[in-house]
Amino acid sequence: MATFEELKINKSILKALEEIGFEKPTPIQEQAIPIIRSGLDVLGIAQTGTGKTAAYLLPIFAKLVKAEGEDPRVLILVPTRELSIQVGEDIEELTTYSNIRHAAVYGGIGWTKHADMIKPGIDILVATPGRLWDLYKAGAVSLKKLKTLVIDEADRMLDMGFMPQIRQLLEIIPVKRQNLLFSATFNESVEEMSHEFLDFPERIEIAPSATPAQLVQQCYYKVPNFKTKLNLLQYLLLDEETFSRVIIFVRTKENAESVYKIIKRKAEGQKRILHSNKGQNTRINAINAFKDGDIRILISTDVSARGLDVSMISHVINFDLPQRYEDYVHRIGRTARANNIGEAITLVNPAEEYHLRKIEKVIRMEIPMKEIPAEVEIPPTPKPENQEQLREIDRQKKLEDPTFQGAFHEKKRRPGESRNKPTNAPKHLSKTKKFRKGRGSR
Ligand code: ADP
Ligand code: MG
Repeated sequence: MATFEELKINKSILKALEEIGFEKPTPIQEQAIPIIRSGLDVLGIAQTGTGKTAAYLLPIFAKLVKAEGEDPRVLILVPTRELSIQVGEDIEELTTYSNIRHAAVYGGIGWTKHADMIKPGIDILVATPGRLWDLYKAGAVSLKKLKTLVIDEADRMLDMGFMPQIRQLLEIIPVKRQNLLFSATFNESVEEMSHEFLDFPERIEIAPSATPAQLVQQCYYKVPNFKTKLNLLQYLLLDEETFSRVIIFVRTKENAESVYKIIKRKAEGQKRILHSNKGQNTRINAINAFKDGDIRILISTDVSARGLDVSMISHVINFDLPQRYEDYVHRIGRTARANNIGEAITLVNPAEEYHLRKIEKVIRMEIPMKEIPAEVEIPPTPKPENQEQLREIDRQKKLEDPTFQGAFHEKKRRPGESRNKPTNAPKHLSKTKKFRKGRGSR
């Protein structure tokens, strides 16, 4: 296996890789990086979660060398807003020690904000096809300097019907350029797409292996609030025999801390619980002790678990859902090492159900639900927490439908409620009020 050094990655990028915790290239990275560097067009096919983003980003950084000019030299087309943001974040992390500039744009919000991001000059533009057109038509972006075109998640681009827009794009970008097309799946349409967009491409296909999602026994609990999550967690951990080596994943350091405090206090002594977010030394000690089996429970965020390679983990418990859906696969993959049978349990509050459904799409599986055991106390949700959940649910609805007005603070007619009651539609409401007033004064 090659190392990143052997793949001739720039020093500044290597430094970032080390910090992020990427120790060695994944198979798609190992194979794609040298070929992309050689300037050939590439069709790359590998399952979700195998590191395709860095497979194209790393050689692109090498090609760009450093910030230069104003117009983007690289265009990365992605199908969704989420992916645009995610690729943008990946670039951000990887270019910490480089001056390469980028912008990640997507639909659903006004384009002028995005135009402002591009204006000072960028090297890489990440965009959904629709938003790219908005910006192009408004004259907010020039594609004359483009040298590399990446189409990421080509299969989803096709599913979402973006082909006509991408085809149109070919007419406005320089003919002489390198094309890279990445996809999690391969089928006839992806094949056709590659004929259309790629010039004598090198095809790199990583044979799918059994995914963690297939090897791990997964389930989730619907849990109304934070306190109930803690109660359920404590209850599960009482069974020391079954839960013999457990990683509890939490999204933030703050949650890691509160989970740590509670289970340290209630479930058992301090001895066999650690959390991996307390400075570098403690982190390494914690992980080593966990590897040796001295510690039964490790509490970790996604970042501090990177590169963690421990076998014989009985359970992964997701105290909350990860920020990035792919990280779910990485989290549960911890318990499927070397084909061990493992279990992954996810605690989902009402505001997280939306993300769970998205994760199910990513892993192309339905995760079965379990009932909270009767022994677990379910306290009512405190008002601030409830409001935060409702606000988050509103935000999700807006993500799905940018015209959604938001139901928070407004009373909504439930299915089955009388049609004659005023609904939350503002116009209707004001009419009803006037009508009532009128009647009253008569
Ligand atoms: P894909 O696009 O193939 O679905 P991503 O590029 O999004 O996969 O990567 C999936 C996850 O793997 C991300 O969390 C990423 O940070 C991580 N990752 C990528 N390359 C490596 C590596 N070489 N070592 C460790 N983790 C990696
Ligand atoms: Mg990807």
